[in-house]
Amino acid sequence: MTVELYNGLSKAKETFTPLDKGRVKMYCCGPTVYDYAHIGNLRSFIFYDVIKRTLEYEGLKVTQVINITDVDDKMIKNSAARGMRLGEYAAKYTDAFFADIDKVNIRRADLYPRATDNIEAMAEMVTALMHKGYAYQADDGIYYSISKFKGYGKLSGIDPTRIEARMKKDEYDKESVSDFALWKFWDADDGDVFWEGPLPKGRPGWHIECSAMGIKYLGETMDIHCGAVDLMFPHHENEIAQSEAYTGKKFVDYWLHPEHLLVGGQKMSKSLKNFYTLRDLEAMGFDPMSFRLMVLDAHYRSRLDFTPDSLEKYEKTLDDIDITLQRVQKLPLFHDTKTDTGVPRILESFEKAVKNDFDTHSALIAFFGLIDLANKRIREGKASDFEHKQMVEAFRKMDFVLGLFVELKVPDEVMKLVRERDELRDKKEWTAADAKRKVIKTMGYKIIDLEKHDHVIIKNREHGR
Ligand SMILES: [Zn+2]
Repeated sequence: MTVELYNGLSKAKETFTPLDKGRVKMYCCGPTVYDYAHIGNLRSFIFYDVIKRTLEYEGLKVTQVINITDVDDKMIKNSAARGMRLGEYAAKYTDAFFADIDKVNIRRADLYPRATDNIEAMAEMVTALMHKGYAYQADDGIYYSISKFKGYGKLSGIDPTRIEARMKKDEYDKESVSDFALWKFWDADDGDVFWEGPLPKGRPGWHIECSAMGIKYLGETMDIHCGAVDLMFPHHENEIAQSEAYTGKKFVDYWLHPEHLLVGGQKMSKSLKNFYTLRDLEAMGFDPMSFRLMVLDAHYRSRLDFTPDSLEKYEKTLDDIDITLQRVQKLPLFHDTKTDTGVPRILESFEKAVKNDFDTHSALIAFFGLIDLANKRIREGKASDFEHKQMVEAFRKMDFVLGLFVELKVPDEVMKLVRERDELRDKKEWTAADAKRKVIKTMGYKIIDLEKHDHVIIKNREHGR
């Protein structure tokens, strides 16, 4: 079975065929490290991870590049306002980005090129675009002339004949079609942030960063380019214009755009006080992995309406999954020659879902089907060796794509308390045993007692519920 995906360029579902058989070149617009990533950004990053995992599940060798934008208008302004050097400011939020993606179990990309490490490639591209007549010099920078590029608008559907004024700013109005800055000449606001030669003293525009790094690390044509839907115009449209004018070749075969995350039906904004980072969710006591599960439960091309309350349900589900998976490992097995089980059908519907435009919502339904089967066997108190092996293998395969389980490493000091509690329970000293349980809970772990003094230990996700 092959992967079908919705291509933002053709606006249709297509069968994915990589340029080189068995290999995938994939570029994803990464964070601008001017602040902590908000959970809308994280939704995109989780989706990038799911695409990579799904393609690898299919046996493809994926090279994933995610850029780090460490110079732009906002960053220069913010770092100056805080009296920090740009590099120092960027490092702080780059570290925060990696800490956040680790917390939601995103596997690392192959490369995270930083814009400021690739200025030469950008300057070379800008110079070539001038030579080819696609770029021109104005008094404050070098601009891309979108009327020169025939295909402008092919991704976003914007009408390129409505050209308005030049735009030096990195981000501009979604309605206006404007020549955009490839290279911005230095002015006093930039302070010590500038590069010189072969271009005049200045710095790159945001759009050229992704084109130059994409081509440098993946080649002139890549298979997949992803980025949040709000980047389609102007950012991705501009990337196509720059790259295709520069190489004369198609820049990207498949464009993938995850939808917005809304909060209470509205776009997140600091002024509306509905703006959340992962740190905010943690401060409220939530397990970051519940956010991952929530993201997977929605199709990436539908809007996801977030409210903090809705995370509670997902935390509860994570508890149930953890308990089932631990209990299924402990099941006594009996030998059975019957090899006709329900597991292959469940796995098949899981695979069908993820390969159908990364439909993680339907994939989770299949996954919970397997959880239900496992719980049935747990209630029965035994499982056939054949089916059990299939179940364990199917869970492992599904999690390769979903990335929901992070092995719980219970510290020695907690295990010591667990043993002490067991001894107290053996002696029927219930009050003292319960006091131990409470201490264990404050240390972040919860004991789920089973029959015959057996138990499983899970993360303590309780907070005010
Ligand atoms: Zn980009």
